[in-house]
Amino acid sequence: MINQDTIDTLRKTEVGARRLFIDGTPVDAQSGASLEVISPIDGRPFARIADGGVADVDRAVASARKAFAKGSWSRAAPALRKKVLTKFAELVEKHALELAVLGVRDNGTEIGMAYKAEPLSAAGTIRYYGEAIDKVYGEIAPTADNVLGLIHKEPLGVVGVIVPWNFPLMIGAWKIAPALAAGNSIVVKPPEIASLTLLRLAELAVEAGLPEGVFNVVTGRGSVAGEALGLHMDVDAIAFTGSGPVGRRLLEYAARSNLKRVFLELGGKSPNIVFADAPDLKQAAVVSANGIFRNSGQVCVAGSRLLVQASVYDRFMDELLKATTKLKVGDPLDLGSDIGAVSSAEQLTKNLGFVAKAVEEGARLVTGGERILAGTGGSYMAPTIFENVTETMQLAREEVFGPVLGVMRFETEEEAVRLANATVYGLASAVWTSNLSTAHRMVRAINAGVVHVNTYGGADITVPLGGFKQSGFGRDKSLHAIEKYTDLKTAWISLN
Ligand code: NAD
Repeated sequence: MINQDTIDTLRKTEVGARRLFIDGTPVDAQSGASLEVISPIDGRPFARIADGGVADVDRAVASARKAFAKGSWSRAAPALRKKVLTKFAELVEKHALELAVLGVRDNGTEIGMAYKAEPLSAAGTIRYYGEAIDKVYGEIAPTADNVLGLIHKEPLGVVGVIVPWNFPLMIGAWKIAPALAAGNSIVVKPPEIASLTLLRLAELAVEAGLPEGVFNVVTGRGSVAGEALGLHMDVDAIAFTGSGPVGRRLLEYAARSNLKRVFLELGGKSPNIVFADAPDLKQAAVVSANGIFRNSGQVCVAGSRLLVQASVYDRFMDELLKATTKLKVGDPLDLGSDIGAVSSAEQLTKNLGFVAKAVEEGARLVTGGERILAGTGGSYMAPTIFENVTETMQLAREEVFGPVLGVMRFETEEEAVRLANATVYGLASAVWTSNLSTAHRMVRAINAGVVHVNTYGGADITVPLGGFKQSGFGRDKSLHAIEKYTDLKTAWISLN
């Protein structure tokens, strides 16, 4: 159960220095180097992580390969893998609050959201793929009578998993769970500023019965450990979520090394479109405010571009402002807070740079735009709304990944579609309307991996998530994700 007393006890737990996790056990980085972990809650260091280097990635990949070749996981009956993954999910649930508090100390997400979106969501994902894997069949091809064509689905081998800091457990599990369920071995490279929960996850996997070497974690810098994984000649695939520039690098690394597969889930600048006939403008405003401001806007699918039809513009903006000012920004480990800290001081500075540029380009600041609670030493930012944003402004084009919303006004459906698609991204979107035909036309017209109708966010594990255009390719979640971690092999057998 989640209650304030337990949270307050857990937040005082000594974390100390955490080591890499290779071959089923914690080990020091070969160089002995480590990195300080600073909490965005108060700006203070509270842990250290090993600064993994090229040699450590080599060691982790070798361990993963050895485990894969041994076959105790890769060739285990799917029913056995299911049993271990089910136990793994149970352990994650059992340690959910411990994991959630550890993660919040690392990245500043408000605890109520972190608890559900991180350990509980990760446990659900692990269970989902565990349960799915013994229902995945091969195929028999419709051939002539004198041959038999069999299509086998095999694990790829060693999969590198690289994830961002906003939801490392949830996003990590979207890759780790289907990769493991399919029989692969993995090497996870957590984000520099939020590594602790993924290290703990690996320990729980081994406790659940995952053989040594199947789940390895190398913490450290992206430019060192991440690059080494991307360039490694014995890694078969990289499953990545993060920024566009790093995604491009991973494609280059694959081209320069062994042509490993690369799956990219990148950023977004998602349009949230409110038509005058939205079923309930007030509710739309409340959900829209949450859709951009929860987790300080550090959500890949955040509805960061709000398009409002002119005839309801003033009414909607009043409701939006009311809903926004009700959101309480504060200590993320206080159950009374709606929004916690921005993940790091650097990210806060970056967000404030976007605010300054929006003002300079002529957008009108409606609310927020500043750092708050500076006395705590933490990185807190007021939810920020700009209106009179135009297509050419930076705020309409570039992802902030912070609590900053840009609002535009539109007259017609055609204009809404044009504005919605006027972006290099295509991750998420939403449409608010009572008209079924408008809703379906918009679903077809918007270039994005998900179009929400009369809601924002919340799509569960049963449906795919991923981007069009420069938001990436490959899909996390749903049964489709298993395809990324399996290869097709044909057996062509003469029956003559
Ligand atoms: P980032 O790209 O800076 O880092 C992501 C990961 O890549 C980290 O683990 C980092 O250590 C690693 N990395 C950095 N440089 C690397 C390199 N040269 N080689 C290999 N790995 C390297 O992203 P971030 O700042 O952690 O996260 C924010 C970004 O992630 C935003 O753009 C956001 O939209 C995106 N994101 C996308 C989704 C999605 O599902 N599409 C979800 C969450 C976040």
